[in-house]
Amino acid sequence: MAVFLTQFASALGWVIYGSFYEWFFHKFWMHEVRTPREAFRGHAIIHHNLYKGDEGYFVPEDEHAQHILLKPYALPLIFLMHLPIILLIEKYIPHTAIGGCVSVVVYFVVYEYMHWNMHVPRKHFVEKFKWFQFLRHHHHLHHKHPLKNFCVLFPLADWMTGTMVTDASLERRKQAREAAIKAGNIALEGKHKPKASAPTADPSTFAGKMAISRAKRAEMRHQKQVAAVKKMMSTTVIPPRKMKQR
Ligand SMILES: [Zn+2]
Ligand SMILES: [Zn+2]
Repeated sequence: MAVFLTQFASALGWVIYGSFYEWFFHKFWMHEVRTPREAFRGHAIIHHNLYKGDEGYFVPEDEHAQHILLKPYALPLIFLMHLPIILLIEKYIPHTAIGGCVSVVVYFVVYEYMHWNMHVPRKHFVEKFKWFQFLRHHHHLHHKHPLKNFCVLFPLADWMTGTMVTDASLERRKQAREAAIKAGNIALEGKHKPKASAPTADPSTFAGKMAISRAKRAEMRHQKQVAAVKKMMSTTVIPPRKMKQR
């Protein structure tokens, strides 16, 4: 019994980790150009261009659904990446490896299954559940606001890192912005809030020098990212959405 409970606790731990892993990979590899570049091309360019944040998010029944699932090598790669960590934990906390392995595989399979069903309404039984409708809408908002709602299956990491948006939070933000504009105070609201930036830093102090160098590095990274995205956009052919063969 104790063995089963340890395996079960391990599986649960890996599910919580899974939320952070999908958030991290989605944010830093699928929405930023990094090696392997295929992650950005397949997701940010092709998936997001095929399925926009409007009604184009859904794949109608007479359409051939494509570019929703991850590449076939994604599961073996993710599994092999995590196996050494699972085995290392097993060495110090016995009876955790099976729970860990099962959890990583099941999380991935359920992720793919859910992402598919979110885009392809087909009156499948899972679509009846309120929690599924919540997740489908959570992901729909990601297609509308690609730098928000990075989690597809388990939005714990979005909630904890502040990248989560809902209709209610977007509405509140809109109202706050409108109120700020009315009050002539737009500079103090949301993303228009002035950031402590290099030009205001004093170069004669150590902290000022550091701030200037940080800002320069950030600007260089940004420019590099913009150039990489532009290059990739120009070399990627976005396939047309296709009707099913009859
Ligand atoms: Zn999607
Ligand atoms: Zn995305």
